[in-house]
Amino acid sequence: MRKQIHLGIDDIDSPGGGCTTHFAALLVERLSTLGSVWTDYPNLIRLNPNIPFRTRGNGAIALRFILKEQNLIQIKPLLESMIEDYVDLTYPNTNPGAMLIEGKPSARILDFANRALWRTIPIEIGKRLIHEEQCEHISYGNGRGLVGALAAVGNLLNGDYTFEYIAYRKIQNSGKMRGVSNDSVLMMDKAMGDKTFSNIDGKTGLGLIAPHGPDPVLFGIRGEQPQDVIKAASYIKSKQDIDRWMVFRTNQGTGAHLTNCVYIADLRPYMAAVVHGVVDSAPRIIEGGHVIFGVEDCSGRIDCAAYEPTGNFREIILNLIKGDQVLIHVGVRPAAKTHGLTLNVEGIEILKAAEKLKLTNPICPRCAKRMKSAGSGKGYKCFNCGFKDPKGKKITILSRRNIEKRLYLPPPRAQRHLTRPMSRLNQSNEGEQTSLIYQWHSHMTGNDQTESN
Ligand SMILES: [Zn+2]
Repeated sequence: MRKQIHLGIDDIDSPGGGCTTHFAALLVERLSTLGSVWTDYPNLIRLNPNIPFRTRGNGAIALRFILKEQNLIQIKPLLESMIEDYVDLTYPNTNPGAMLIEGKPSARILDFANRALWRTIPIEIGKRLIHEEQCEHISYGNGRGLVGALAAVGNLLNGDYTFEYIAYRKIQNSGKMRGVSNDSVLMMDKAMGDKTFSNIDGKTGLGLIAPHGPDPVLFGIRGEQPQDVIKAASYIKSKQDIDRWMVFRTNQGTGAHLTNCVYIADLRPYMAAVVHGVVDSAPRIIEGGHVIFGVEDCSGRIDCAAYEPTGNFREIILNLIKGDQVLIHVGVRPAAKTHGLTLNVEGIEILKAAEKLKLTNPICPRCAKRMKSAGSGKGYKCFNCGFKDPKGKKITILSRRNIEKRLYLPPPRAQRHLTRPMSRLNQSNEGEQTSLIYQWHSHMTGNDQTESN
């Protein structure tokens, strides 16, 4: 008998420079030697990016494969020994979690996974679900990793999805300079066109494919198809060597966290949501270069902030005026001493720009030129034809708005992994076949078998 397995892992980061996707790459290689038949690429699932105690990426992994029933009992001990080797469990903020299920994830797990994209889920809720569903699991520390592991297993990427090729260096080189050549990134971006995305920040001209932290990731290339990201990687030159690589299927670049439109009164800390409202106070710049404005809907009003790192996105925000109808993409910041509940703006769609009026001098009725003041209390005079209007008054006209009816995003360097970038606005892989290509990671062996699901 062969069994379909869904295995989730999360929070396998360590201060010594490990990361969950790297651990996943090692685990895939080991599971292949057990005779796993892969039914999907490893899934890299990005969760709600606003969760405070997580790193900016907040990514968990799901592996989906078929295994002979007699090999099943080897998985848990393998996971335990690998995690204990990989993670420094004495480090206080490391809470690795892993869980696996046989057969299809239940509707409750799917629902849990959906919530994890935009809400915060208490660890206890995750633990209870694992208990009630009788999932095989491993957990260390406070068990937070179980939440991500469950959320990854339950996210089958049935909607839009993309791919990422991740190249790793040897873990003992994690503290050294990567030396990824910016010229090679620019060349790759040019050659690949819209088959890859978020490679470069347009304003700075700097590549965005290499992280900055001391982790084993050398670089990652996001794109539409596995063949695309593998080809793109062949352009990249770096000082450090690639030790191994793997292609992940992922929800990056799909905007999956922003599918819920929420009333202002229903917003809660750390939520990811879309708010449909009307600007109720003009934007202002505060200390640190952040821009604050207010919106209201039928349920209430709230302050919104475009923070300094969003760069010239703030110039768009500064053009907003009272009465503009907007759809804002937000992460909710909890109230603090200096501010109430605040919306961190990570995108804004202008639905309807309010009319901006301004006062101006009247037009000459004889020659249609704009008249000038004839002096205090003396009305207006035309300097072109000499016409005088002693009773003339200023007139109100429509002022041109410096904003269009469309979506605006911060520059790529300030975007979330989940943000749907401008280049993917009209792009979707939803419903496309996802059969595995011949080689999707570097350490494939004769044992590696793949099967379409
Ligand atoms: Zn005139």
